[in-house]
Amino acid sequence: MNEFIISSDNYINAMSADNPAVVTVPPGSRLVFETHDALHGQIQNEEQGIDSINWERVNPATGPVAIEGAEPGDTLKISIEKIVCDSIGVMAAIGGFGALADDIVKPGIKVLKILDDRIPFMEGVDLPLKPMIGVIGTAPAVGAVSCGVPDHHGGNLDCKLVAPGNILYLPVFHPGALLAMGDVHACMGDGEIMGTGVETAAKVHVTVELIKGQTISDPMLETPDTIYSLVSDETLELASIRAIKNIRNMIAEKFNVDNNTAGMLISAVGNLEICQIVDPKLTVRFGVPKSLLSEV
Ligand code: CA
Ligand code: CA
Repeated sequence: MNEFIISSDNYINAMSADNPAVVTVPPGSRLVFETHDALHGQIQNEEQGIDSINWERVNPATGPVAIEGAEPGDTLKISIEKIVCDSIGVMAAIGGFGALADDIVKPGIKVLKILDDRIPFMEGVDLPLKPMIGVIGTAPAVGAVSCGVPDHHGGNLDCKLVAPGNILYLPVFHPGALLAMGDVHACMGDGEIMGTGVETAAKVHVTVELIKGQTISDPMLETPDTIYSLVSDETLELASIRAIKNIRNMIAEKFNVDNNTAGMLISAVGNLEICQIVDPKLTVRFGVPKSLLSEV
């Protein structure tokens, strides 16, 4: 099997068809993306203030990588195998940012040690080590989209289930797809309510396959027991309705039933969950058991 290492020297701050590919790889390749943390390594200790952050440098994504033979209308299948985190992680409280924005009277930074099996947060409190990918996407259909923004192409999805053992499916809008990723969190809760997880540099091991002629409108995610549609939009309500409709349409088509029947079925067994509420668009996931939708 082909294996490629994508160095973090190759990064982008916006996803776009104009970005030249770092490398072109055949489908089925194993790739290791070396990623910067979301703050681009600008915070190394707690003595540094928020003011030392240059916001134009944040959210770098390593890549992009072109997948041989990928054409608009195809789907990339990205199996996430392993994420090896760096030894430090950063969290922040930033005035005016996140669900508690109004309560942040003074900005704060926390630099955490990431151990092999846990993240000591404070005396007597350890966080679990649950690495996940915050930013992952292909070149969007139109223009350049900042890596801080999630949309149809993926991007800053901040979904805690984009994690080892799971499979992410992304739409292909341009030849080669141009896959890039970054913004690993060693641990993050649903909502990412303060706007940061445990931000860390990492090595992300994935296998990328190509599904020819299979078109999806938004990212999809497969866990051992559930298939989700991941949708980002201006409000949680808009994102929720689109994610639900994506799954409803797949169910109606697969079982050849009308929209009402498909809707009732997923009203009974589907789950609507929040990925994040802090990025320029908000992201939700709607999932149904794989016994209903066994494949994308
Ligand atoms: Ca993020
Ligand atoms: Ca982040």
